[in-house]
Amino acid sequence: RVVVEPELEQEHGHGQGGDGVELLCVVRNLLKKIKRRVMVGDKVLVGSIDWVDRRGMIENVFERKTEILDPPVANVDHLLVLFSLDQPKLEEFSLTRFLVEAESTRIPVTLALNKAELVDKETVTKWKSKLRSWGYEPIICSVETKTGLDSLQFNLRDQTSVIVGPSGVGKSSLINALRSNHFGFGPAEVDDWPNSISGSKWLEDQRVGEVSARSGRGKHTTRHVSLLPLSGGGYVADTPGFNQPSLLKVTKQSLALCFPEVRKILLDSQPLKCAFSNCLHLGEPGCLVKPDWERYQYYFQLLDEIKIREEFQ
Ligand code: GDP
Ligand code: ZN
Repeated sequence: RVVVEPELEQEHGHGQGGDGVELLCVVRNLLKKIKRRVMVGDKVLVGSIDWVDRRGMIENVFERKTEILDPPVANVDHLLVLFSLDQPKLEEFSLTRFLVEAESTRIPVTLALNKAELVDKETVTKWKSKLRSWGYEPIICSVETKTGLDSLQFNLRDQTSVIVGPSGVGKSSLINALRSNHFGFGPAEVDDWPNSISGSKWLEDQRVGEVSARSGRGKHTTRHVSLLPLSGGGYVADTPGFNQPSLLKVTKQSLALCFPEVRKILLDSQPLKCAFSNCLHLGEPGCLVKPDWERYQYYFQLLDEIKIREEFQ
């Protein structure tokens, strides 16, 4: 299913700028032949459009800005890492693993802490200042009491986001809350549409809203992902991501850069650099990052894990 972006709709005089119009599309054979897979979130060129039956053919797929595989979504421009303050308890190392996995995609990350109503104010304050020192300004929310959902909605606006986090923190509940607050795919009331438009030139920025994607978890599991349009603009994937951060994309060298507090030190000291170009910031001579930052122990632990993995590769 391909959704015509609302802006394009307006630009071309169709519709009143709702959530976009949905077209059911097949993929051109040639694309299949060259194994150009279409992912949810892809921007595609659609031709042979039949506006009455709302059908078309995907003729080409535009280059992806980003691509994540769990869930499989292209052009994600925002990751929302969701944890809960309690039930399950918020744990620094687990949180760090998720944040590192998220940062390793190089997609901008926002952190939100759910189930705020289960803990007292002091606990929230304590976590806030801790996370600030890690480089994050967390959004405190509760899906249960509906607090903080407006800031979340604001934070998600105009972007394609995927919510990631461990199980039980409220990802599905949050997605449902966001879903109940959207206008739905494809407004039906569009009267002034032309009967058919051939050619595809002017429709160059359409988003694939939904495909059945085969997951990497075995041949027979088909994972269905779709992007839900948000009332504030933008989309959120209806399937949460990486329950278990694998850190497979993280190397010894890139690990430190997955910590915003280290990135900041390195950035602030520019044009100075660590003496060794392959510095792991473990107290090497001439290192700019003194090994005394709060998450150093977690960094060290993850580095060990990655070293072991790299040795066995
Ligand atoms: P997921 O595994 O991350 O998708 O988590 P779920 O959305 O399935 O939620 C796990 C449990 O937490 C469910 O029983 C939810 O009702 C509950 N839950 C979700 N949000 C909140 C919240 O803000 N406060 C409390 N107390 N429970 C919540
Ligand atoms: Zn260094």
